[in-house]
Amino acid sequence: MAARILNGTEIAQEIRGEVAAEVKRLAAGGVRPGLAVVLVGHNPASEIYVRGKVKACEEVGIYSEKLTPAESSTTNEMLAVIEELNRRDDVDGILVQLPLPPQVDAKKVLLAVDPAKDVDGFHPMNVGFLSTQRPGMVPCTPAGVMEILRRSNIPLAGQEAVVVGRSDIVGKPAAMLLLNANATVTVCHSKTRDLAGVCRRADILVAAIGRAGMITRDFVKPGATVIDVGMNSVTDEGEFQKFFAGNAKKDETFRKKGSVLIGDVHPEVAEVAGAITPVPGGVGPLTIAMLMFNTVKAAKMRRGERVRELSKV
Ligand code: NDP
Repeated sequence: MAARILNGTEIAQEIRGEVAAEVKRLAAGGVRPGLAVVLVGHNPASEIYVRGKVKACEEVGIYSEKLTPAESSTTNEMLAVIEELNRRDDVDGILVQLPLPPQVDAKKVLLAVDPAKDVDGFHPMNVGFLSTQRPGMVPCTPAGVMEILRRSNIPLAGQEAVVVGRSDIVGKPAAMLLLNANATVTVCHSKTRDLAGVCRRADILVAAIGRAGMITRDFVKPGATVIDVGMNSVTDEGEFQKFFAGNAKKDETFRKKGSVLIGDVHPEVAEVAGAITPVPGGVGPLTIAMLMFNTVKAAKMRRGERVRELSKV
């Protein structure tokens, strides 16, 4: 039987609606949450991401500001930009779009962001809050993964969860959130032995690897829930055929654009999984929705308001 499709676009829309309502409520009290996005240089992918973030802010009523320091900026110049944003009361969230140019010490810059305004949740202070189950900023993509699971009524407590990938941005925080939700969590990476065997134990399998279609059907226990975080571009005809032969819709996109997006999960997994997130339209839309959520959360926390944690499952 074909897997249930977990529609990230719909879930993200629902969250954006909730955030917009919250922004309205705050406006009645004279508060307008504000997000500052810092974009250095002209990386085309970064420019697209930042445009999406600014547009999403407009839609939910968050004030947004794009700062574009010169590509030649030094670490010290970047630190000065961050310090100014830390000081400003109308800025609740600070997002530094990565990657930064090579001459800038990215770790130093991220460390300079006030943890209370760290809407990406990358500051070590927020990492510590997450691991000790204290209120803080949770990284957007893993928080989005939890929202998909929660809003799709996938049980987590006592379930076997396997996360493939251990990045600070996705894999590790996703594992921590699943652990906090009482799943039994295994984290896999490039040195894991018998990866397919470990993955087959999973009731919930999260793939955050960055390798097109790597998770094939032999990695998946029949009926498991599969969350595909990967976003990979297929541009090669042979590779396209390997994944999408006979798929008329994908074929049309490939012919038109010269590329299609694929996750880390092979399309054939939809034949064995119980539920699965599509790519595109799965985890991706949640990332921006959770950024909006985090900005409003930061605005409330900075003003001492109690915050309802979305991801408490
Ligand atoms: P990273 O490259 O930082 O991490 C990849 C992880 O996968 C590493 O831990 C690596 O292991 C592991 N890995 C790589 N190859 C293998 C392998 N053959 N077997 C087992 N594990 C392997 O990537 P990110 O976490 O930043 O991103 C992962 C994916 O998610 C990417 O496709 C990215 O584009 C996508 N992404 C999507 C977002 C969204 O909004 N949907 C947001 C952020 C990311 P090791 O540590 O041993 O090297």
